[in-house]
This record gives sequence, structure tokens and C-alpha cells, in this order.
Amino acid sequence: MILRRRSYSDADRILTVFTPRLGKRVLIAKGARKTTSRKAGHLELFSHANLLVAQARTWDIVTETVTVESFLNLRTNLEGISRAAYICELVDAFTAEDDENETLWELLLLCLRELNALPESAPQHDLLLRWFELHLLFQMGFQPELFACLGCGEDLRPVLNFLHLHAGGVFCPDCGRAQQGAEPITAQTLKVLRHLVRTQWESLRELRLGHSTALAVESVLQRYLVTVLERRLKSADFIFRLRQSYGTNDGAAPNATESSADGQDYPPAPADSSYKAIL
Ligand SMILES: [Zn+2]
Repeated sequence: MILRRRSYSDADRILTVFTPRLGKRVLIAKGARKTTSRKAGHLELFSHANLLVAQARTWDIVTETVTVESFLNLRTNLEGISRAAYICELVDAFTAEDDENETLWELLLLCLRELNALPESAPQHDLLLRWFELHLLFQMGFQPELFACLGCGEDLRPVLNFLHLHAGGVFCPDCGRAQQGAEPITAQTLKVLRHLVRTQWESLRELRLGHSTALAVESVLQRYLVTVLERRLKSADFIFRLRQSYGTNDGAAPNATESSADGQDYPPAPADSSYKAIL
């Protein structure tokens, strides 16, 4: 899977690829920017390709390429491209070179296939991104604690609990009130997050979230990712700006049964959140 690519010298490209058995690798495709190059058409971003590689002293050299899946449908619109770029950037941000993680590779492939198969206007796109974020966090050992209180260890009950991004999870009401930096999290938001963690995507396709719940879940995960990575991803900002420019949120189902958002694009962030600037 081609996660990232950049131009190098007059005619070459440097590629960051994610492979099922060798993890993330940085490769060079010599001459790939020449219009006559046979490789050029097979090295598109977030495409699934078979690469033949020759070992070299610095970057290994791509010698042959064959596209396996190019995900053409998702490339027909800016939203599709931005979502695919986002999940690839997340994988790039969370992985180190040569760390094999076949399960993560399969997760990435599943999500790209699904983004490609969903109709452009389908409401499931944003839900799929949330599901991907949580399962990627799980794969990389950063899953937030959503089931037992971080303080006393008791099972969390369906009441107003307290989320602590830096502590990596949720406190029960008794423990959470005393925690600096904790913010309330509704039973509904926690329920959806837990459901996403425990459920395979195939069983979530029909799930529809109300607008306010979808935004609350997104806000929690985006801010948690910023906390873990200590930075925001460019593609996440781009998705946000794209949504702002269209004035819509297609993560909200048209037939949502919950009340719509009250004019805010995200629920309020805690005062010390670095995410606040773009809310
Ligand atoms: Zn507790």
C-alpha cells in the first residue's frame, strides 16, 4: 500500500509503503516521474500494488510494479481522496519502519475497499473513519480505557462519566470529579465508542448515529489522537476545512432519530486542548 510519495531529483519518487509482512518501508522509484515510465501509473497514492524491489545501500529500489487495486471510485471526489489520505497518514504516523503488522495492513485494506465501495453520499463514511481510528489505536496499543474506571477499576456504568485524554480513558463519577483535566462524557457517547471497539465493520454498516452523537464521538477521538501523537494530521485538518466549506457533515444520517446539533460543529473542547483552535 502506498502511504506517501514525494518527488526526488529530476525524475525519481520516494515512496513510503506499508506491506503485510515487512511493515513500513521507504523505497525509491527511479525515473517514475518521466511520462514514458512504465512504473508511473502503478505508483499512485493509496493504491495496492505488488512491487519488486532491489536492495540498495540507502533506499531499496523499485524495479517492477503491478497495480492490484487502484480504488478508482474513491478518487473521483475530493472527500474520498481526503478520507483515504487520512487513514494512510494515520498508519504512517503510528508505525515505525520495518515493524511488521499484518493485522493493521488488513485493517487498512478493508477500509480502503469499503471507502471505495460506498456511494459518495453514503452516511457511513465518517463512521468508518471512527471505527478505523479506534481499531488502529487498539492495534498499536493506544486503545483508550472505555470499560473500567481508570481510578478504582470498577466497571463504568451508563451515567455521566469523566473522560481524561492524557490519562488515556474514562473515570467513574466518583473518581472523575477530583481529576484535573477530566471532562464529562455522556453515556451515549461512551456507549457508541464501546460498540465501535467491540464490533466488526460488517455489523456496523447499518448503524446510524444522530448528528450530535456523531460529532461528540468524532471530537473525542480526534482530540485523543492529537494527545497520543502530540500533533494534528494535515489530512484531518483538510477534511475539517472541506466540511466547513460545504457547510455539512455527512457523518450525520438524514434519518437520524436524535435531535440535530445546536449550531456547533463540535462539542466544546476542554480549555487546554490543542484542538480547540480549529473547533
Ligand atoms: Zn472510579
